[in-house]
Amino acid sequence: MKVLKNEPLKNHTSFRVGGPASAYVIPEDADELKKLIIFLYKEKLSYRILGNGTNLLVSDEGVPGVVIELRSGLDGLELLDDRRDGSIRIQAMAGTLLSRTALYAYEHGLAGMEALRGIPGTVGGAVTMNAGAYGTEMRDVLESCEVITREGQVKTLPLEALELGYRHSIIPESGLIVLSAVFRLRKGDPEEILKEMQEYQRRRAEKQPLDKASAGSTFKRPEGHFAGQLIEESGLRGYRHNGAVVSEKHCGFIVNEGSATASDIYALIQEVRTKVLEHTGVELTPEVKMWGSF
Ligand SMILES: Cc1cc2nc3c(=O)[nH]c(=O)nc-3n(C[C@H](O)[C@H](O)[C@H](O)COP(=O)(O)OP(=O)(O)OC[C@H]3O[C@@H](n4cnc5c(N)ncnc54)[C@H](O)[C@@H]3O)c2cc1C
Repeated sequence: MKVLKNEPLKNHTSFRVGGPASAYVIPEDADELKKLIIFLYKEKLSYRILGNGTNLLVSDEGVPGVVIELRSGLDGLELLDDRRDGSIRIQAMAGTLLSRTALYAYEHGLAGMEALRGIPGTVGGAVTMNAGAYGTEMRDVLESCEVITREGQVKTLPLEALELGYRHSIIPESGLIVLSAVFRLRKGDPEEILKEMQEYQRRRAEKQPLDKASAGSTFKRPEGHFAGQLIEESGLRGYRHNGAVVSEKHCGFIVNEGSATASDIYALIQEVRTKVLEHTGVELTPEVKMWGSF
């Protein structure tokens, strides 16, 4: 199994920050992953799962223990059977990019994933976060998913068992690892599917700072509000902490202008939360997952 010692995580996160992982392991397939989990369980060693690192803020000191990267080893897509109700299913391995999965659906004339095309995570990360955009979330297309338990057992869980809510699932708290996911889609007109995907991409490019290092929306959407709007109303457009900046283009995004450290980004997150609370009375909660100590 490929194991890298003291691998800098800034090379694997979209914020482009983060210190080293003591051991960075890249299993080549599901079998290797299963053996690894059984080994770590027996040795009582802790580990973290890394998808495409697009929703992570890793501290500058890095993280002790093992980081398991699923992006390259668990990559693959398969078309499953047609169903009597007219739906068709796709199975995607956890490390497959969600964008590639949506394009695969389009190539097979399958509708349902158009709005998910622009989310830059893996299928495993997207299921874990119940990622979503423009009114579609993972729970709208997911049928079931295969997971590995802490003890190394492989199980198939139906959608209901995952308790997907707004950017939430039971996966992290249950210590599960997503191995693969089955999506239920419907036949559609390829031209229409492509047109919709392009429209969503256009809206994304128009509104979001896609040319800058970020982790997407930094904060969850507070009920009845939009985080970006509250931040803007609080006068924080362009507000900075060294190289970490509230995006001029979309206030809901904190971006790394190039020189930011994880501490800068964290400090800015806290300052924004304090100022928004003072100004609007609304408490913002980070959507971005944090690894290490801050
Ligand atoms: C420019 C940009 C735009 C974005 N737009 C959106 C958007 O529109 N909608 C949206 O919801 N998000 C968006 N995001 C955030 C991010 O892409 C999603 O949260 C995505 O689902 C994260 O997937 P990942 O593979 O990168 O996960 P990572 O960032 O690697 O991990 C996120 C969490 O999931 C866990 N995890 C990852 N894979 C697995 C697995 N196989 N099994 C168990 N746990 C796992 C990790 O341990 C971690 O806790 C955006 C990010 C960027 C940078």
